[in-house]
Amino acid sequence: PIRQRLLVVANRLPVSAVRRGEDCWSLEISAGGLVSALLGVKEFEARWIGWAGVNVPDEVGQRALTRALAEKRCIPVFLDEEIVHQYYNGYCNNILWPLFHYLGLPQEDRLATTRSFQSQFTAYQKANQMFADVVNKHYEEGDVVWCHDYHLMFLPKCLKDYNSKMKVGWFLHTPFPSSEIHRTLPSRSELLRAVLAADLVGFHTYDYARHFVSACTRILGLEGTPEGVEDQGRLTRVAAFPIGIDSERFIRALEVPKVQEHIKELKERFSGRKVMLGVDRLDMIKGIPQKILAFEKFLEENPYWRDKVVLLQIAVPTRTDVPEYQKLTSQVHEIVGRINGRFGTLTAVPIHHLDRSLDFHALCALYAVTDVALVTSLRDGMNLVSYEFVACQDSKRGVLILSEVTITLFCWSSTVSWCWSNSRKPWNITEVASAIGQALNMPAEEREKRHRHNFEHVTTHTAQQWAEFFVSELNDTVIEAQQRI
Ligand code: UDP
Repeated sequence: PIRQRLLVVANRLPVSAVRRGEDCWSLEISAGGLVSALLGVKEFEARWIGWAGVNVPDEVGQRALTRALAEKRCIPVFLDEEIVHQYYNGYCNNILWPLFHYLGLPQEDRLATTRSFQSQFTAYQKANQMFADVVNKHYEEGDVVWCHDYHLMFLPKCLKDYNSKMKVGWFLHTPFPSSEIHRTLPSRSELLRAVLAADLVGFHTYDYARHFVSACTRILGLEGTPEGVEDQGRLTRVAAFPIGIDSERFIRALEVPKVQEHIKELKERFSGRKVMLGVDRLDMIKGIPQKILAFEKFLEENPYWRDKVVLLQIAVPTRTDVPEYQKLTSQVHEIVGRINGRFGTLTAVPIHHLDRSLDFHALCALYAVTDVALVTSLRDGMNLVSYEFVACQDSKRGVLILSEVTITLFCWSSTVSWCWSNSRKPWNITEVASAIGQALNMPAEEREKRHRHNFEHVTTHTAQQWAEFFVSELNDTVIEAQQRI
């Protein structure tokens, strides 16, 4: 059977490109939540459209990169440095990202932000139009176009302006905040209207979907229905599609000899100590300083554990051009240094903090040897690290500590099982410290019970199902809309 073509449009292509010569590029699959999720989708003939993450000013380079990417079914959108600065660093990461995670605008940047807002917003629209141009060029009748995330809120509108028959879906990977928060954005109405041009709009949870619908009713004065949002007889379907992971990929990876070898090394390296693990991009929403401070408090109050536990924190550098992120990096380094100075010995330190990412196999090995995973997000669209940890724990049955805000998402998906994990407010350091104690001391039987529930959830709510569900809903939505006319 001919598979339906799926054009996946996201800000970043799932590759990182390094230039090796005038017309020579080397490509590598890059880390990230969306990438992991879509790697598992085999139902459609998927093509990726997005920015390769590099500035390529010359035509020779652009042509060579386009050719190299084509082999990986990727199509590049070329953005110049100024656009990246204004659209990506500016509007996306300094305005939309913090706002959607309830962090508000960076305090000291507020005035500067107000001044630069208009030019950043213009760049955002322009960048979205550039993505639309590339999609339009490669679009064939019958294709499904799936736009991803807060970077591309204008894309549905740009695409429908080209061709109102295009099947367009948009999915948000972050939370969508309450309308009271969204209301503070100067471009609130334009963004909502642009998204509403899509046929189907998806969120991780019902809460986010509900927030979006009420923003449309309160800010735009449109009608919200159980199906979505109606504007003069035209319906935009709004629904929840909680993402999953390709759990099989993780389970299979543990069988790979290289991974087993690595597991053995790690076990030897940390023998006699319980391993606690944090894996996060170094982002304020991940609550990394809070997590480390809680660990310090735990060591402070539990001298017995000082030489019996180690915290491995993988902090993947992200958005390193944005000042807020630079500040966070030095803040975290300072705290880690202080705690290691305070509780370290000549031969061991309590925290191993890495400013880098790990490759897939190294990460799987690390998940597998972990006794307690510590996820302390202050807000998170849908945290994939916690799913991946569970998928790799079928022999160890370690404990997952999740902050309450992360947990609410799991609860929604009707698997109350996730609530069995220790639920704690991330900013309450005392509570996180006591959750660490509880997790480290948990009897095997209890760990087993919790792990079973979580493992069952992770292996039955996969990324493939998520993507298939979204695309089939999008196809159905378009058919239903045609029937209504
Ligand atoms: N990841 C990775 N290498 C690393 C650290 C993280 O490949 O060294 C991946 C991880 O496997 C996960 C993703 O990055 O799939 C992070 O997703 P999550 O939803 O937890 O957070 P996000 O970064 O999307 O906010």
